[in-house]
Order: sequence, then structure tokens, then C-alpha cells
Amino acid sequence: MNIDWSSLGFHYTEPEYIVRAGYHDGKWEEPYATKDKYLHLHVSATCLQYGQEAFEGLKAFRGIDGKIRIFRWRENAKRMAKSAEGLFMAPVPEELFGKAIHMALEKNLDLVPPYGTGATLYFRPLLIGTTPRLGVGPGKDFEFIVIPSPIGPYYPGKFHCTTFIVNRYVDRAAPYGTGQFKVGGNYASSFRATEAAHMMGCDCLFLDAKQHKFIDECSAANFIGIKGNEYLTPKSSAILPSITNDSLMTLAREIGLKVTRRKIRLEELADMSEAAACGTACVISPINKVVDTEKGVTYSFGDEPGPVLTKLYHALKDIQYGRAEDKYGWCEII
Ligand SMILES: *Cc1c(COP(=O)(O)O)cnc(C)c1O
Repeated sequence: MNIDWSSLGFHYTEPEYIVRAGYHDGKWEEPYATKDKYLHLHVSATCLQYGQEAFEGLKAFRGIDGKIRIFRWRENAKRMAKSAEGLFMAPVPEELFGKAIHMALEKNLDLVPPYGTGATLYFRPLLIGTTPRLGVGPGKDFEFIVIPSPIGPYYPGKFHCTTFIVNRYVDRAAPYGTGQFKVGGNYASSFRATEAAHMMGCDCLFLDAKQHKFIDECSAANFIGIKGNEYLTPKSSAILPSITNDSLMTLAREIGLKVTRRKIRLEELADMSEAAACGTACVISPINKVVDTEKGVTYSFGDEPGPVLTKLYHALKDIQYGRAEDKYGWCEII
């Protein structure tokens, strides 16, 4: 395949192969690679009728030494198993998950972008319910699919800030609802708010659905804030446990920050020197402003990414690209 890596946008590029495995009669079949990107799916499949769908997102990086590194895929496997449980689906065993990721990589080796382009190979594991069922209830057949896709750098120019708008009119997920799982339903329910924010060139800050008092998520990313010597991130039953956030917390402790996960009131933004969204796609997306239009308040963090978050951003990227020691064994070298 002939790909101009430098002009690769942050969008989907069709891979040559995807990997699939079905679950029938209580058993997973062996994963297999196929060029066919279409499913022969019954119109009454539970994924279509009742939203039995969960997904994941992880990346492979071409390191400075030319080797390919897959970042913390076992964590994604564990999280997908939790999402499956949350939606009453058969969990994908960790070894099957790993096999499918490795197969998707090996079948699409020419899609791994070269080092230095900032582009990566993204994997989108997907789990759907396929049992035809119009009567309300979960299915008993499932399909696990891994879609690899090279994506361009999140920051094609320089590392920069985004503005977030506080949203109080759409709740993405209820406390103890599906917000703690990586499921498509959370995305569909938040599009109304995120697209409205995008129209204004901003992103959307979700508050807790019960009281609209505490910070929940930054669009589809976790929130992190720096307050003095403290790394703050919200504790909530409605947010997704981000693997990027978990990694950054470890690195934050390493540079002497105190890491605290607790409920964070929106007004506490006023005491923070830096704030950001974090996730696989961006690693860290620093925030320059959070605008609360309803209350007429703007929280500002400066127009350039702050020093602490910039340091953490580079520390994690250096591990992913093999430029720094991988002390925690986060990367699997292929
Ligand atoms: C995927 C996702 C994140 C980020 O998780 P990572 O494992 O860091 O990629 C955060 N919030 C939501 C809602 C997500 O779907």
C-alpha cells in the first residue's frame, strides 16, 4: 500500500485485513483475518435493537529503534471484559483479544507508520451481540472484531490547547450507569452536546449527571488538573477508567507529584494552574479555558500548555516510542 504518512489525517484509513471471531453455543471460535469489511448481520441482532455493543482503542508505535511497540493491550482486554459484563455480553478472553490484535498487526504490517511521522497504527476492537431477537433481552451470540487503521498525528503542528464548554443540558451517563464502560451508547448520547461544542470550535465538559456539580469527563476523555504539587483526577461511577490516565498517574508520582482521585467541584478549576483531557488519541490535550456560559464564568489556564502537563506528555510518548526506559513493561515489543 502506498500511503503518504505526512498527510494522513486523524481519520479512518481502510486496512487490508480485519480480524474476526464469533461466539456461538457458549464458545469462542479461533480468530481469523479477512478482507471482507461487511458483516452478514440479522436485522434483529441485539447490537442493532438494544445497543449490545462495546469497543476499545489502542495503538502500536514504530519506535526510534525501528521496532513496533503495542501499548498496554492487556489493560484494554481487561476493560473490554468489564464492558462486556456491563452489557451482559460474553467477555472476550484476554488471550483471544491478544491473538486478534497480533494477527491484525501481522496482517497489516505495511500500515504501521514509520518512526518520526507522528502517525500510529490504531486498533479498534469491537464486540457486538448478533443473536436475532425482537423480544427485549440480551443475545447469546457475539462477534469480536479488530479493525486496524493508521492514523495521523493528533498534533500535526505543535502541542496546543483546546477550550472546553461546560455542558448542563445533556448528560452522557448516569451514576452507576454505562459511563464506566466503553460502549457506543455513551457516545451516541453525548453527540448532541459534543457536536454543539465543536460548532463553536470547542470541546464539551460533562458534569456529573446527578447534581451537575462535579467534573465527570472531557468529551470522550478523562479530566486531569494540576493544583500546586497535586495531580487531580475525578472519581466517579460514570467515567471510563482511562489507561492513559492510569499511566500518567504513575509517571506523575515518579516526578514527585501527589496523585489524588476524588470528586472535583467545577469551581475548583479556579485553583488549578493546568488542566487537560487525556486519552489514547491525544495522550494529553491541554485546556486553555473552560467556559461556563450559564454562570458567566471562564476559568483560564494560559494559552500555552503548562510545564507539568508538557513534561508528562513527553514522558509517556518517550516510552511509547522507545526513547525512554519502559520501567513498567507497558510496551510489548514485536
Ligand atoms: C476511551 C475513553 C477514554 C480514554 O481511555 P484511554 O484508555 O486512555 O484511551 C476516556 N473516556 C471515555 C468516555 C472513553 O471512551
